[in-house]
Amino acid sequence: MQISHATESSPGQPNEDLVAAGPDWAVVFDGATPAPGVSSGCIHDVPWLVRRLAAALIARLTLAGPAPLAPLLAAAIGEVRDAHADRCDLENPDSPSSTVSVVRIRDSLEYLVLCDSPILLRHPGGQLTQLTDDRISRLPGGRPYRIELVREQRNRPGGFWVASTDPDAAYHAVCGTVSLDSVTDVALFTDAVTRLADWYGYSWHDVFAQLRDAGPAGVIRVLRAAERAYPHPHAKQHDDATAVHIRV
Ligand SMILES: [Zn+2]
Repeated sequence: MQISHATESSPGQPNEDLVAAGPDWAVVFDGATPAPGVSSGCIHDVPWLVRRLAAALIARLTLAGPAPLAPLLAAAIGEVRDAHADRCDLENPDSPSSTVSVVRIRDSLEYLVLCDSPILLRHPGGQLTQLTDDRISRLPGGRPYRIELVREQRNRPGGFWVASTDPDAAYHAVCGTVSLDSVTDVALFTDAVTRLADWYGYSWHDVFAQLRDAGPAGVIRVLRAAERAYPHPHAKQHDDATAVHIRV
């Protein structure tokens, strides 16, 4: 197995994505950029949450035995919650949050997707399977969302789930297990990379071909070139972008 990865912030901004890999796992996080002027009730910023959460989850992925991924993530969220429970208002619905996607490869391939950082599987015949948690794309009324709507729907049954202060969110992630015989490659992306498919006319097969030929950094180069050439009229020009490629 070979795991390679790349991450790049929006030009001039701190990176709110984080990527890490170990001998048999890879994780990506995409911290949610806070809406301007909103009080999060938390003295910490999004990179603080993302780094703490990553450290807590990576320790568990490294040390834990066969424990399934959801309880590992729940324990990691609980550890981060406890780290600022004495100073911050953890009931605030705008408390910093992050997506989490995990792949672990042992006797089989296990995955966990919490919010909108997708995982793609490539099968021996070249077909692709997307493993996504698209609940944040299906909030009532459609985009653009009002801040109040996101606040109401976050970490609520029927809404969407994200890693923040509630360990229970981990048990609402999209999880599963796939036979290793049926997978040749795996990709993990933060949602900036999905712009290639959603906005810029690339098929996921094109993205996967670029990943295999030019690696994760090559995919991000293509994304940045597209963002510069064709800025989206209703979105920030660039977003933090992360890609992981696992050759199984
Ligand atoms: Zn805090």
